[in-house]
Amino acid sequence: MRTLVSAVLDLLLPSLCPGCQIAGGPGLCPTCIHALPRLEHPCPWCGAARRDLDARCGACDGAGLAHLQQVRVDHPYHGGIAHLVGLAKTVGRPAAVRALGDLLPDPPDDAPNGGVVVPVPASPGRRPGPHLGSALARAGARRWHLPLRHLLTTTRLGAEQHRLSPAERRANVVGLFRCVKPAPAYVVLVDDLITTGATASAAAAALRQAGAKRVDLVCLARTPGPGEYATTTKKNIPDHTGGSGAAALSGGRQTP
Ligand SMILES: [Zn+2]
Ligand SMILES: [Zn+2]
Repeated sequence: MRTLVSAVLDLLLPSLCPGCQIAGGPGLCPTCIHALPRLEHPCPWCGAARRDLDARCGACDGAGLAHLQQVRVDHPYHGGIAHLVGLAKTVGRPAAVRALGDLLPDPPDDAPNGGVVVPVPASPGRRPGPHLGSALARAGARRWHLPLRHLLTTTRLGAEQHRLSPAERRANVVGLFRCVKPAPAYVVLVDDLITTGATASAAAAALRQAGAKRVDLVCLARTPGPGEYATTTKKNIPDHTGGSGAAALSGGRQTP
């Protein structure tokens, strides 16, 4: 009901930026976009931030994630991204879902032509409401002119990943996904958040088993693991205080 009310409000109210609720919409205003925290030099193989472009990745050491070719993610999960994800998931605001869809990065430059977009499916037993991963996959498919296919399903109820250690996370998701149809040679896998990448790896394993030759992960935001290099680029953040939502979107006060 809350989701329905939010959707109706989004239709009735004049279109405002979902970040600051001040500037005109639709979508995030330029100030809010510039205020978003960004991962520094994300590793192309796992998405972890690095000190500089040539730095060895402290998270995967260049080995990448099992069954995945490349990972594209631009933002750490805090500040404005966490704020918008909260709006999208908890309150179901369509304007926030749309804004997050616009922030999804594109597949790698060397991605093959064609292929399909597949969302990582919702965990069984999750609370009802819009599934952000599927909404992002739909937005990506539209932008990349690729078909959206719900090829994956879950085989059982997995324990909640955020309560587990990295080793437990990997064990928890082994065999968690299965493909309902043969997969094409190239798949762009889409999810909202990545932490260790264990869930995405398990999803990619199922796609590979069903025939995919290459699977890339495109993700909205990354939660840095313990001890990972996790700072954000501030140089693009304008001097915009004054209490608007854009200042909160920078996440500057929450940088670990
Ligand atoms: Zn704004
Ligand atoms: Zn890495």
